[in-house]
Formats: sequence, C-alpha cells, structure tokens
Amino acid sequence: MKVFYDRDADRRVLSNKTIAVIGYGSQGRAHARNLHDSGVDVVVGLRAHSRSEAIAREDGLRFASVEEATAMADVVMLLVPDEEQPAVYLHSVGDRLRPNAYLAFAHGFAIHFGTVVPPKNANVFMVAPKSPGRLVRSEYEAGRGTPCLIAVHQDPSGNTRELAIAYAAAIGGGRAGILETTFKDETETDLFGEQAVLCGGVSALVTAGFETLVESGYAPEMAYFECLHELKLIVDLMHERGIGGMREGISNTAEYGDYTRGPRIVGEEVRKAMRTVLGEIQDGSFAREWVREHAAGSGGFDRFREAARSHPIEQVGERLRALMPWLAPQDDELKFRVC
Ligand code: NAD
Ligand code: MG
Repeated sequence: MKVFYDRDADRRVLSNKTIAVIGYGSQGRAHARNLHDSGVDVVVGLRAHSRSEAIAREDGLRFASVEEATAMADVVMLLVPDEEQPAVYLHSVGDRLRPNAYLAFAHGFAIHFGTVVPPKNANVFMVAPKSPGRLVRSEYEAGRGTPCLIAVHQDPSGNTRELAIAYAAAIGGGRAGILETTFKDETETDLFGEQAVLCGGVSALVTAGFETLVESGYAPEMAYFECLHELKLIVDLMHERGIGGMREGISNTAEYGDYTRGPRIVGEEVRKAMRTVLGEIQDGSFAREWVREHAAGSGGFDRFREAARSHPIEQVGERLRALMPWLAPQDDELKFRVC
C-alpha cells in the first residue's frame, strides 16, 4: 500500500476552504478540533438543541445547524453514526451542498452500499483514522498522530485525492502515515474484522470458554478470570509486539498449548463460517439486513442487547470488577468503536 506523510501533503489546498464537520461525537469533535488547531476554517454542524452546542462553544469552535453549515462549506465531513447518515444526508445535506463541493466520510459504508448517493458533481472522499476519536485528539495534542486511511469515490474536480491527503494531514495523520485504499476495501475489511474477529469472534470465543468451564462445574469467578479478564494481558502483548512477541511473554506451557490446541478450536468449521460471513458482507446482504433492522425500529437489535446483558458472565463480571477499582473507565467516552 502507498503511504503518505506530512511532506506529501499540500496543505494549501485547504487554505481558502471552510470545512463543515457534521456531528460532534467521537470522531467529529476530534476532527473539528485538530483541523481548527491546524489553522483550517471549521464550522461544526449540529442538530437543533444538541447537547454538543455547549461543548463546541467551550472548545472555541463556531457551530451552526447542519443545513447552514453544509451551505457555507467547501468540504462537508459527515460524522453522524453510519445508520443515521442516510436520513441526515437526505433531509439536511444533499440539497444544500454547494456545486462542486467535497463530501467526506470516515467510513465507507454509506457510499459503498449506496445508502447515500451524492450528485455527480460532488467530490467524494474518505479519511478514516484507525483509532477512536479520543486518541485522534490526544495524539495530535502530543505532536504525533494516528494512521489514517484515505480513498476517493468521485473526483470531478481532479484534485480530490490531494484534498483527502491534506485533510488527513491536518488531523495529524501525516505524522503517522496516510494509507490509500478504496471505499469497497475499507468497508468490507472493516465489517469483516469486527464481525469475525474483533467483536463477534472474540465475544463468542470468550463466552463459549466461560460457559464450558462453568458447565463443567468450575466457579464462574475462575471462568471469568481465565477467559475474559486475562484477555487484556494477551491482547496488549499482541498489540505491542505481534503474535510472536506475545508468545515470548507467556510461559512455555502456554505457548505449547497455543500451537497444539488453538488450531483445533478455530478449525475448518470456523474458517468456513468466516468465508460465509465475508460473502454476506461482499454481496451486500449484511448491509441490507442492518439497514432493514434500523428502519424497523431496531427491535431485534434491542432484544440481542437485552439477552447479552442478562448472561451470567455479566453478573459475575460486575462483582469481580468492583474488586478492581482501577478498571473503572477514565472518562465518559465508553464507546470505543472499532474502526
Ligand atoms: P458518534 O456516535 O460518537 O457521534 C455521532 C454524532 O452525531 C453525535 O454527536 C450525535 O449527537 C450526532 N448525531 C446523531 N444523529 C444526528 C442527526 N440526526 N443529526 C445531527 N447529528 C446527529 O459517532 P462516531 O463514532 O464519531 O462515528 C462517526 C463516523 O466515524 C462513522 O461513520 C463511523 O463509522 C466513523 N468512525 C468512527 C470511529 C470511532 O472510533 N468512533 C473511527 C473511525 C471512523
Ligand atoms: Mg474497523
């Protein structure tokens, strides 16, 4: 993959432009503040009576309604939740976009699956930081940055890629690395990663391990420590040093069990299921299902959440975490969306 850095970015393409950042959540706040501190003219687009108004004011940023912000901007970065983007685009953005404006996203879902269809004269690009907004901001403040993916979907102006690189650099990405991909690849790999491994795969693996021990008569507290709590130690090692580095940090007994038992747990059946899940992402059936679920009021989604909340692993976890007060979240950004 091609990697760009600050030296490849021509920040002058942003110098006479106003950027509207729509939504002031995890990504929105980080993008808006970093752009502003990089000297870019920013206006935050908020819905009426948004609780984010007070925060944006305190952060020293100007804000307006989503409609007004869109109308005054050369670049519109849409940072409302993916499932809200079609409605926000349809009601407040689409017909207020300036001709030849740039419409930007931090994830490819809406464009790749066609839930947002911009006019042909709009330039469409993506800048997707590979980290939660909180880190996008704190790394920028520390003089560093988080890696970003960029992609171009429509380019009638002929300089959309240049603009995407400049935007990514202005939020700090150029200090770490800006990698070029496509809306298709970003969307499909992102969904696959979160479904098969990071969220779906890991939650199911942890839960199955916990249930296996408890069903065999072991104390739920023991099962929780062994199958969930200690996961962080292993993941931190993998994150910092890769799988090989993690194996250097565990006992030889654990390492031997890893080689000989791991592939029996995640065997051909699991790989087959992974390929099926990837197929449902690629053929659009997962996206259609999720869009339908949201449109139908998310009743099924709520039932999944309720069932998960009442699982014994949550009750025992609550009791055990209370014994470890240092685990309490540091701030109110509990939601670490994996992106
Ligand atoms: P978020 O839920 O943290 O914030 C969304 C913001 O939009 C909130 O301020 C909310 O009040 C506002 N909002 C919701 N509905 C709205 C509406 N109808 N009109 C106006 N504002 C509305 O979302 P996020 O996690 O920042 O995600 C934004 C985008 O960034 C998504 O495309 C997501 O996939 C992408 N992304 C997120 C992360 C991450 O770590 N959170 C990382 C990379 C990319
Ligand atoms: Mg992801």
